[in-house]
Amino acid sequence: MKSRCPICGREALLPDDVMPGEVIEHDCGVTLEVVIDGSRALLKPLEIGEDWGE
Ligand SMILES: [Zn+2]
Repeated sequence: MKSRCPICGREALLPDDVMPGEVIEHDCGVTLEVVIDGSRALLKPLEIGEDWGE
């Protein structure tokens, strides 16, 4: 499954069985969280140190 890195704009290759919420590290060094939108996988920057206290 292919997606795109929101930080560097380059392609990111994901496993076909990737799960929502899975965290990957892209080639550019950024940490991204996988979000499934229908049949597509989106990537969003993982926010560290925020929104964990719910
Ligand atoms: Zn990247």
